[in-house]
This record gives sequence, C-alpha cells and structure tokens, in this order.
Amino acid sequence: MFEADRGDGIFRDLSILSPHYVPKELPYRKGEISQITSVLSSLLKGVKSNNVFVYGKTGTGKTSVVKNITRELELYLSEEERIKLRSRVLVSYMNCRLGFNSKYQVYLKILEDDALKEQTLVARPLDGVRSGNLNGRSPTELYSRLKAVVEANALHLVVVLDEVDMVREADELLYAFTRINDEIREVSVDGQVRRGSVSVIGISNSYSFKNNLDPRTKSALCEEEVVFKPYNAKQLKTILANRVKAGFRKGGVSESNVALIAALAAQTNGDARYGLRLLQKAGEIAQGHRRKRVKKEDVMAAKSRVEEDILHELITTLPEHLQIVLYSIAELMGRGGQYKRLADAPSDVLFSGEVYENYERTCKLLNRAPRTMRWFGEYLKELEILGLVALSMSGSGIRGSTTLIRLGAGQAEVKRIVGQSLGFGEAQA
Ligand code: ADP
Ligand code: MG
Repeated sequence: MFEADRGDGIFRDLSILSPHYVPKELPYRKGEISQITSVLSSLLKGVKSNNVFVYGKTGTGKTSVVKNITRELELYLSEEERIKLRSRVLVSYMNCRLGFNSKYQVYLKILEDDALKEQTLVARPLDGVRSGNLNGRSPTELYSRLKAVVEANALHLVVVLDEVDMVREADELLYAFTRINDEIREVSVDGQVRRGSVSVIGISNSYSFKNNLDPRTKSALCEEEVVFKPYNAKQLKTILANRVKAGFRKGGVSESNVALIAALAAQTNGDARYGLRLLQKAGEIAQGHRRKRVKKEDVMAAKSRVEEDILHELITTLPEHLQIVLYSIAELMGRGGQYKRLADAPSDVLFSGEVYENYERTCKLLNRAPRTMRWFGEYLKELEILGLVALSMSGSGIRGSTTLIRLGAGQAEVKRIVGQSLGFGEAQA
C-alpha cells in the first residue's frame, strides 16, 4: 500500500499527479491569464475591479489559473499595501459544488474566513458574537456584517465562486454583490479617504449559465468574460509530459504512452484533469504488476477504471434529492416506463410526469417527503448540467407539451451506483 512512497516504486511524487496540485507555470494560458489580470489590476490601485466570469469545459485550467492569479494578487499587495494603498485585497475562494450553494452558505464562508478575524481589522464579523459562529443568522444580517467589515476597513474583497452554476439563488447572490458596492461608503483610513469594494470572479463549466440569469442581474454585473478553450492533443501532451517528469521515475511512462493519454484526453473534451487521472491510474496499474514502466494495456485498463470512478464520484456526491430523482429515472427506465407508449415512440425516453410519480414513490420507500413539481424541475436541470440526463421538449401531442428525459450514462450502471448510495438492497433495486 505504501509502495508509492518507497524508493523503488514507479512514482517519484504522487502529489504532483493529483488534480488538486496547481503548477506555478500554466502553459497555453498566457492570454487568459493576462486578460484576467488586467481586469483585476485596478485593485492594485485601490479601485474596485469589474467582475470577471470565466467559462470553459471541465479540465481546461480555469480553477488553476484563477487560484494562481489570486494568490499573487494577495501576495503582491501584502508587500505594497501599507505604503501605497492603505487598503487591502482579500480573496475568498469557494467551490460552490462543495456545499457553498446558497446565499447563506456563501456569506457564511466569507464571514468566517480567518482573514476577517485579524486583530488589525475593525467591525469584524464575529465581534460580539458569543457563540463564535454565525450559524442561524438571517442572510440579511450576514449581508450587513459583510458590508460593515468591508466598509470600515476599506477592504477590496474578491469573492471567487468556482462552479457558480451550482448556486441555487445565483441571481439574488450576484445581484447582492453588485448592490453592495452602491451601499459601501467612503471612510477615512489613516487620514486618507478610501472606499472598499466587493468584486466577483465567477467560474462556470457552462457558457449558458449567464443565459439563465435575470436581465437585471446581468446588466448590473457588468462583467468581463474570459473563455477557456479545450486543449488539443498536442497541448495536452506537453502538459502531461511536464507532470510525468516530476511525478514519475525516469522511464516510467514512454513518450508514445504520454501521446496516447493525451489523445484520449483530447477526445474527452480536451480535459487535462482526465488526462492526469489516466496517467496516475495507469501508473498504479503498472505498479500493481510490479513493473517500473507503464504499458499501453495499462493505459487502456486505466481508461475504463477512471470512467467508472468519475461516474461513481459524480453520483455519490449529489445531494440526496438529486440522487432520488436520478434513481427514479434509472429505475423506471429499467421497467420501460409507466405510461402507455405509442408503438413508434423511442424506448429510451421518459415523460417527466411518470418520472415525478416514480420519484414520489421512491421518496415514500425512503421515508422522505417529496419536493414539489417545481423543485423537481430544478433538480432535472441540475442533473442536465452535470450531463447525467438530457432533457428535451415533446411536440404538442396528446399530453400537451412535456419534458422528455433521457439518461446520459448506462441505465444499469447508474441504477446500481445510485441505488447503492441510497441504501437500496438488491430486493428493491
Ligand atoms: P478546471 O477548473 O477548468 O476544471 P483545473 O484548473 O482544475 O481545470 O485543471 C485540471 C487539472 O489540469 C489540474 O490538475 C491542473 O493542474 C491541470 N492543468 C490544467 N491546465 C494546465 C496547464 N495549462 N498546465 C499545467 N497543468 C494544467
Ligand atoms: Mg475547476
């Protein structure tokens, strides 16, 4: 088990192959980096920055680029701020998929950040709060506390909302972050007049995110857009080769196998993260066979294992009701649907009505209260963003216009994974 850390394994440093590792150098992203940096550069002059929205498919380097830039932004200022600015930049990063998916959670995450507990600040969010946390306070109170600390210290707060399309009330949240700038007043810091600000960097896998925003929010946002294109096979080869050099022992992965992995990742939306996972899994498989070199067959075996893992992670980390909806779809699909079909109707499509009925039934089995139709519609949209289902509208037939649902992955596999995750035994599953 600890073989990877021993001197004679195939890996030199496994952490370098992890998707959480952020390399200092990010080749092929110079243009995007300078676009974002130039928007944020006004913060270095103590002036509010425009908001930035970063779009691009998964594994195109969005998170890494933004993390590198914001880290530098904070470091740069800690040197210069006292002399030139007398106001400071704070960055609050969160991945909205990991629980920061409501206005309340986002505010809480910002307010409870260690940076806002610093002794040198005034009007700190936790001042006078005896419990030491802000649980249970209203979003309105959290908003006022946020405004107070930013205003009193003339802070320039940069809120990074990674995977922002996972926020339920994205409209309200983004609107609040624009409005707050109209409410923040000037203060005098060391005899100089300063005004704090809040800017947002939103990161989304889907370009259509902004289409779902209220026009009022969209226009208030006044955001700059940066789009990350998928990497091609050649670019992926360079990115992966760099990681091979640092992560594997010499000769661990041949150039032709790096090229093969790069080609597979290029087919998978140019996803560098997927390429890295293939690389790591192939290494583990080779190591399992006590070899010091990855073979082509290890890469192919890694491909099917990684694909299964990805689906598994995606499904098991979904909130419960999303899992119940997904289960209801897969389960019903396995029975060929509930409503009577026309003879020529495609067999892999369900009506949203029959799925909702099955969802209610599944909730009953699990002793959960089903959510309303409206929520159910939201859940379907979220599953669609994640690629787990595909939705379309039926023509206006006998049932009127209704949403049609297809599964985005294999029915049996989805049912097995989500069934297990919800705790269904073989009997019901
Ligand atoms: P995204 O946020 O767009 O899904 P990430 O920034 O998480 O993508 O990148 C996924 C993985 O690929 C990370 O491990 C990252 O280090 C790596 N990666 C992405 N782009 C580059 C690049 N240009 N150079 C080196 N590594 C990269
Ligand atoms: Mg990301």
